This record gives sequence, C-alpha cells and structure tokens, in this order.
Amino acid sequence: AKEPVRVLVTGAAGQIGYALVPMIARGVMLGADQPVILHMLDIPPAAEALNGVKMELVDAAFPLLKGVVATTDVVEACTGVNVAVMVGGFPRKEGMERKDVMSKNVSIYKSQASALEQHAAPNCKVLVVANPANTNALILKEFAPSIPAKNITCLTRLDHNRALGQISEKLNVQVSDVKNVIIWGNHSSTQYPDVNHATVTTPSGEKPVRELVKDDAWLNGEFITTVQQRGAAIIKARKLSSALSAASAACDHIRDWVLGTPEGTWVSMGVYSDGSYNAPAGVIYSFPVTCKNGEWTIVQGLAIDEFSRKKLDSTGAELTEEKELAYSCLS
Ligand code: NDP
Repeated sequence: AKEPVRVLVTGAAGQIGYALVPMIARGVMLGADQPVILHMLDIPPAAEALNGVKMELVDAAFPLLKGVVATTDVVEACTGVNVAVMVGGFPRKEGMERKDVMSKNVSIYKSQASALEQHAAPNCKVLVVANPANTNALILKEFAPSIPAKNITCLTRLDHNRALGQISEKLNVQVSDVKNVIIWGNHSSTQYPDVNHATVTTPSGEKPVRELVKDDAWLNGEFITTVQQRGAAIIKARKLSSALSAASAACDHIRDWVLGTPEGTWVSMGVYSDGSYNAPAGVIYSFPVTCKNGEWTIVQGLAIDEFSRKKLDSTGAELTEEKELAYSCLS
C-alpha cells in the first residue's frame, strides 16, 4: 500500500475549504489509490467551525483518509506536509483600501512562508488560492527562500476551466473535447483568456476553436469579459462565491502537477516567471504549462498576435504594480 500524503489546507473552515477537503479525502486530488492525511488550519475565531468540519470528515468514513489534523497552530499545521493549498486569506471588506487588504495578506503569507520553510516535507508543492493569489504566492516565495521557486504556484486553473466551459457551451460540444486554452497573467480582471491555440476534437479530427466558432467579435469581446467576470456573476446568482468550482480547480491543478498532463495538452498555472513571452520576470504569472514527473514546464514558441501582446503586457504591468504595493507594505 502507498504511504499517505499529507495535504495542508489553510482557511479550511471557510467556503472553499468546506468544498475542498471532501474532494481531497475522496481521492479527486491525488488519485483513487492514494491515501491522504489532511492538515486543516484556520484562525482561532474559526476553531469551533473547523472542529465541526473535522467531525464531518470522520462521519463521512472516507476509506482513503488516514488522519485529520485540525489546528489553529501554524507550525503543527505545516509539519511534514507534502502538498500545501493556501486558501486562507484576509477578505476584502467594503470600504477597505487595496493597500490595507494587501498589507494584511502580506503579513499572513510572510509568516506562513516561514512555517512551511521550516516544517514542511522537503519538496513540498504549494498552491496559493487566496486573493490576491499571484502576489500572495510571490510573498510566500520571497520569505521561504529554501523552498525552490518552482514549487510555489498560484491558481488560475479555475479561469482556464471557465474558458473551456464557455467554448463548450458556445459550440455545443463536450468540455472534455476542448483543450489548450491559455490564461495569461494575473488571477484578476486583467487576466487574458486566449483561445488562439485552443482546439476541439471533432469526428473529423482536431479543429482550431477560432475556425469552429467563426465569430471573432465574440471571441475577442464577450468571451473574454465573461471569463474575467464569472466570479462576480456567481456571487450575484448564489449570494455566495464560487467555492465548488474553485475547490475542483485546485484539485485539477495539483493532480496534473503531480501526476502529469495528458500528451498534447497543456494547462494554465501561475508560476514564477522567467520572462518567457516577454512577461515581467520575477512575478508569479500564469502561463501555459505541461507537467511531467512532478515538474511544470512553460510551453514555448506559441505565436502571440498584436491583440494578445497588449493583453499580456497589461496584465503583466498590473502584477509588477502589485509587487511594488506588496513590498511597500513590508517596509
Ligand atoms: P472562501 O473560502 O470563499 O475564499 C478564500 C480565499 O480564496 C479568498 O481569498 C478568496 O478571494 C479566494 N478565492 C480565489 N478564487 C476564488 C473563487 N473562484 N471563488 C471564491 N474565492 C476565491 O472564503 P471564506 O471567507 O469562506 O474562508 C476563508 C477562511 O480563511 C476562513 O475560514 C477564515 O477564518 C480564514 N482566514 C485565515 C486567515 C489566516 O490564515 N491568517 C486570515 C483570515 C481568514 P476573495 O476574497 O477575492 O473572494
């Protein structure tokens, strides 16, 4: 039998946490033959609710779940973890300045970086979900210098999956037949969902999405804004945020990273930029990546047209500006 993998979820008593932990315990993240031990962290005001989640995990009698640590102690939470999914963060409240929200999150991610660096298992893989996800991940990277930069990522897979979903609805095809969309840049409203290299598997072979949709105005307009604003649309409809799809995307992200992407398919991940595609280097930027043997590689050599170039640049500029704001919160 396989040794259990320890998976940390921070903010585990929150909405995404509540949707995410049963998926992990069912094997959705790491596979149906991989036992897991869940480490759940939340802050003291949420301790009672966190204990309630632990009670439900016991009651669900998940065969793969070999243990549950539910704690408000960051060191206990981080000790020995192989995968860390960072969902906890300070929410943006009405009337709060951007800098105030950034400042709260910078201090949370700075302290969690130290705890992970000192106590997580070697080669721990980190996924940041909490917003501003790219910049929280960057802060985590900066304050955990002994964790390789390649092990620290942020979630843009939900945006990626939303783009696949929109194309599938538009063309009335199975979502599993659509692939290779790209989310570039920041997990924010400046993200650029790009379909220029996306394809659909049809009975007569693989066809470019642009050729099938035959509606460039929609692809360059409404499609992009729908993906960018989907989170807000769900809040409006549900009066709650998109926790189910965020949790599912977090599982997809880790699963593909650990187990590999299918041949000929790439996915979007926020990773530490090396300046590929002339994106700013030294920020966490979402790129198309393939994964193999537990490592991601940025897909190289894709043609970027003038329309796309502007969008890659503007989301990059926003990340550079967020990085400066985050640093100004440190001093
Ligand atoms: P959620 O579980 O709904 O969201 C958690 C974080 O994920 C937020 O930062 C949210 O950003 C972000 N997020 C990213 N993508 C999505 C998406 N598609 N849909 C929704 N959210 C997304 O928040 P809750 O308030 O229910 O739970 C947060 C938990 O974190 C609480 O249990 C709280 O106690 C804990 N917490 C931990 C802290 C710490 O570790 N020090 C500090 C503060 C809170 P956005 O805000 O933009 O929606």
